[in-house]
Amino acid sequence: RLPAPPTSGESIFAETTRRATQLGAVNLGQGFPDWEPPEVLRSALRDVLTSDVHQYGPPPGFPRLRAVIAASVKDALGFCPDPDTEVTVTVGASEALYEAAAALVERGDEAIVLEPAYDLYAEVLKRAGAHVIGVPLEASPTGWRLDSDRLRAACTPRTKLIVVNTPHNPTGAVLTREELKGLAQVALDFDLFVVSDEVYDRLTFDRPHVPVASLPGMRERTVTVGAASKTFSVTGWRVGWAIASPEVTRRLRAVHQFVTFVAPTPFQAAIAVAMEAAQESGFYRELASSLRAKRDVLSNALKAAGLSPTSAHGGYFVLADTTTVAPTATEAAERLLSEVGVAGIALSAFYLPTSGASAPNAVRFAFCKRDEVLDEAARRLDAWR
Ligand code: PMP
Ligand code: GLN
Repeated sequence: RLPAPPTSGESIFAETTRRATQLGAVNLGQGFPDWEPPEVLRSALRDVLTSDVHQYGPPPGFPRLRAVIAASVKDALGFCPDPDTEVTVTVGASEALYEAAAALVERGDEAIVLEPAYDLYAEVLKRAGAHVIGVPLEASPTGWRLDSDRLRAACTPRTKLIVVNTPHNPTGAVLTREELKGLAQVALDFDLFVVSDEVYDRLTFDRPHVPVASLPGMRERTVTVGAASKTFSVTGWRVGWAIASPEVTRRLRAVHQFVTFVAPTPFQAAIAVAMEAAQESGFYRELASSLRAKRDVLSNALKAAGLSPTSAHGGYFVLADTTTVAPTATEAAERLLSEVGVAGIALSAFYLPTSGASAPNAVRFAFCKRDEVLDEAARRLDAWR
């Protein structure tokens, strides 16, 4: 007998891409870059394909890749994670997030997500047996903010962990050191773990990224999740990682070896080469500045169409106020898709079903698209208004 149907069917991201394609809309829904990955990465892949990387590799990840991951975060963290005991390569950030939940949560624990939140967090936490509690971030004229008093108020003796994401999907917030210090203090006071999703760490436009694990006392209690997906524009290569204390890493790896065993080996090998090169070149800086220009193009087009955008300080996304388009964000996204031919995702999709009603009427648009795609979206918005 089949178990009860899943709470969610097709993901909102896959659904939006499918519908945008069917309707010939400009797809600013799903967050994936539509340009070629950097040449250094493609040529590294061509090279590794002729070498001996076609079989299982070491389950924790290729040593060379783990070493360069550790080296690449050393300055921001203020310590160098031990590649052998603290770095694990996974199948995208998604697997790292799944494993963090599976490794840390015990049935009946409470886990906090900061809403709006990437939908995967609640799903993997629930599967691990957690009761998921949403704590809202707050919209402000300069972007979205974390109020650590609200976070503290949501903690109970059963709280086990907090999931945080900075730079943030979907709001474009880059949490400040002060905000994260507040969060760290809550974690220390209630003896919590923090799962910090930092996949957009290289994509900040006007304020620095602060890794949670860099704050005093947080190295031992933080799982830092990263990925090559966004930094190297290869969301399909499925290579991510988790950085955590040796004790937590042992637990993560115990799950990893029975879930995927090892991340795809040719892609790990090619990414190691590209990350080594990126350390030396200005690659990360150029990537951020190119995305910043794209953010400006899309934000200006939204503003001109009367869909006032929030300031995005990092990441791939900007939120547009859709109160003048339709009474709810879902209806607004539908109208923009079918009448204007521009696909975005209703902000309400990033809230738990229990908090959905409190989601502002806004639609998320991705600006990680080629200039001509953004220009076409701008043209359609302009023609509509
Ligand atoms: N975290 C965030 C905040 C994301 O936006 C995404 C998806 N783009 C992921 C994790 C998943 O990353 P990956 O594709 O590396 O699994
Ligand atoms: N993270 C991407 C987004 O927010 C989507 C990832 C996915 O489709 N799995 O759009």
